Formats: sequence, structure tokens, C-alpha cells
Amino acid sequence: MTYIFGHKNPDTDTITSSISMENLEKKLGNSDVKAFKLGKINKETEFVLKYFGITEPETLEKIEEKADVILVDHNTFSQSIQGIEKANILKVIDHHCISEFTTKNPLFYLAMPVGCTQTIIYELYKTNKVEIEPKIAGLMVSAIISDTLLFKSPTCTQKDIEIANELAKIAGIDIESYGMEMLKAGTDLSDFTPEELINIDSKKIESNGVNIQVAQINTASIEDVLKGQADIENAINDFIKKNNINIFMLLITDIINSNSEAIVLGDKSEIAEKAFGKKIEENRIFLEGVVSRKKQVFPVLMENT
Ligand code: MG
Ligand code: MG
Ligand code: MG
Repeated sequence: MTYIFGHKNPDTDTITSSISMENLEKKLGNSDVKAFKLGKINKETEFVLKYFGITEPETLEKIEEKADVILVDHNTFSQSIQGIEKANILKVIDHHCISEFTTKNPLFYLAMPVGCTQTIIYELYKTNKVEIEPKIAGLMVSAIISDTLLFKSPTCTQKDIEIANELAKIAGIDIESYGMEMLKAGTDLSDFTPEELINIDSKKIESNGVNIQVAQINTASIEDVLKGQADIENAINDFIKKNNINIFMLLITDIINSNSEAIVLGDKSEIAEKAFGKKIEENRIFLEGVVSRKKQVFPVLMENT
């Protein structure tokens, strides 16, 4: 059996890319493959799966040594399942930087600097001349909308836009109205405890001995989220202690106006002040036009470590 999965704290791209990869592999005659998830899905992904009538993948708790795996939407081992170092990685389909990745065996590795893994998987369907079913196209376009915040993120490329429009046609959806509805579904944070909130979409990078953790949530109202700032700060401080984090940023991203307010804590929080050229006040920093952790946050923080 080949296990297909994306990163921990799964997002819509990670979950749906696992499903579309499983679909493609099966169509290419590899019947013993299965998509999994590495954690609880978020509200946006829940909306997407329900909309297109697709069952949520099972959770993968651990992996045997030498198990065959296909990684989507990540390559960094710390963002993958425990024991990944000893698995047999057959393929990687990803759109992130490669910072800590080694394998014992040759593999199929396809990385492109595009806004979404599904954009790359679309290319694989085309190369292999496999037709994309409407439901799968729906999942794929949803992931592109999610990762690019409806084409507003600086990570978005012309290719993402063209492919998303093509997929929307196959899926039979209006990209603007469906996209807004989908993104709004992801801003429903009412069910989450502060601990869960800071883990919905959270990634760690180590740079020059500094442990940087950046979490991100989407909202239609930054003000609403900040009503719970004190409780969120407690959750972040606990996380910092337990995980030896030097700087933790929670990006609260306004999906309507494409800005972020960040709560910044940690013994090296001054790195954020240097990186963004602004003072942290009340443990917060406003980041005009910042929506992408990958392009606008991690690189500038790393430069200042
Ligand atoms: Mg992702
Ligand atoms: Mg992605
Ligand atoms: Mg993301």
C-alpha cells in the first residue's frame, strides 16, 4: 500500500491534493494507494468536501519503517508524520522551498514555484492524458483559491489563475462567488479553543539556531479575533514553553482587505521589529498587504536571525 498525505495542521491544499493524487494514481493503474490526513481538518476544508460530496480521508497516526509514501504540499520532515525519515518516499509533489530533505532511494520529485500543489497536479493529469472528473476539479480549484486567497496572494502565478479558471469550468462553479463563500467558511473560528486556534495552520522553521513558529488564521474581522487576544496570548506562551520557540507570530489575516495583524511573542520577538521595520505594541504589529507566510513572513524573519 502507498500512503499519500500532506503536512500536519492540514489545510485545503494538503487534504485535497492527497485526494486528487490518489485519484490520479488509481487512474494510472496503481490501485493500492490511499489518501490520509495527519490531523483534524479545518472549517474551510470541511466546507469544500461537503460541497463536492467527498469523504474526509482517514487520519494516519504512525507509519511503519520502509512504508511506501507519496508526499504532497510539503517536504520538510518536521511538518510530516513521525518516522518519515525511515519511510520509502516514492514521490513528492510540492510548491515549497526544500530545506531539510534526503532520501536513500531515487524518487520522482516535482516542485514548481506556483501558488498551489493542485496547480502542479493538474499538470500531471495533463501530461498523463487523464481526464479530470468534475468533483475532483472542484477540490482542485478550491485548493488554488485557498492557497492564493482568491488570487490575491503574492504567491499566485498566472498559471494558477489560468488553471483555476479551467478547473472551475469543469466543476461547474462560479469562481468568485464560490471562492468567497468557501473562504468565509474558513473564518468561522467559533468552535476553536485558543490552543486549537493557534494550531489550525502553524509552521515552524529553524534559522541560525532560532526557532520560529508562524501560525495563520483567516478572518473577515481582525477586531473580532482580537477580542480574545489575552486568551490567545496565554495559549501562545504555553506553546512557546513546551516547544522551545524563540519567536511566535500569529498572523490574523483579513481576507477582505488583504492585510494581517500579527500577535508576536517570544524571547526573540525583536526579530519581527527588525524584519518589518516597526515597533511591536501591545504584543501586536500591523502588516499592511501581508497575506503570505511563505513569501512575506518567513523569508524576512530568517534574514534577520
Ligand atoms: Mg499547505
Ligand atoms: Mg499548498
Ligand atoms: Mg496555507
